[in-house]
Amino acid sequence: MIAGNWKMNKSPAETVKLIAELKKIQTKTNAEVVVCPMTVSLFAASAQLKDSEIKLGAQNVHFEDKGAFTGEVNCASLKELGVEYVILGHSERRQYFGETDETVNKKTLKVLEQGLKPIVCVGESLEQKQIGITNEVVCLQTKAALCGVTSAQIRDVVIAYEPVWAIGTGMTATASDANQTIAAIRKAIREVFGYAADDVRILYGGSMNDKNAGELMSQPEIDGGLIGGASLIAEKFEKVINYNR
Ligand code: PEP
Repeated sequence: MIAGNWKMNKSPAETVKLIAELKKIQTKTNAEVVVCPMTVSLFAASAQLKDSEIKLGAQNVHFEDKGAFTGEVNCASLKELGVEYVILGHSERRQYFGETDETVNKKTLKVLEQGLKPIVCVGESLEQKQIGITNEVVCLQTKAALCGVTSAQIRDVVIAYEPVWAIGTGMTATASDANQTIAAIRKAIREVFGYAADDVRILYGGSMNDKNAGELMSQPEIDGGLIGGASLIAEKFEKVINYNR
């Protein structure tokens, strides 16, 4: 999977333009390509993606079905717009909007119950990396997010390993470190869900771009990428999608 997280970029009109450019890409891999625009741009994106293989994702959702939650968005409305994936627990949401392992878990359960697929983000801070607790942090985040997920649902879950220090900084984990951490995440999933863990797609995210995508994604444990900045420019995103090993 190659998923673009467009964050708070691209108005509805700009979204239509970027998707028009992306639709011209001749995909040379069998990767599933997903774009995740701002909520306000989802309607326009959905219409523009009608005759396309590219899938639509949202960047967040609320864990309740409906009600007095001013400013929030529910799963049913996302589904009505043709959304298939929802990014949950992105480090920016954990850092700036009070997202916790508990709310990520509630959202994961709701998204799966409603027939959507979560892209659950986990990742360690620079300080946690420096004191050598990366695996503990990401495995705990993963297990907490998946608490209560059934064995029938686990294959619909996507995990994105995104070291917080690598997001938007131009710094990436080395391919072998990313591979090793993703192997640890898969082992943690296997402890709970057995060999279904092998079917869970685990992506790397954090300054992935047209230059480093090949090396990262040729690692055996890495099933794709969650891409921020480089997914906003069609030529760069195309090179990530059609990366050379
Ligand atoms: C992200 O926001 O998920 C991300 C990986 O961003 P960037 O590629 O810009 O580091």
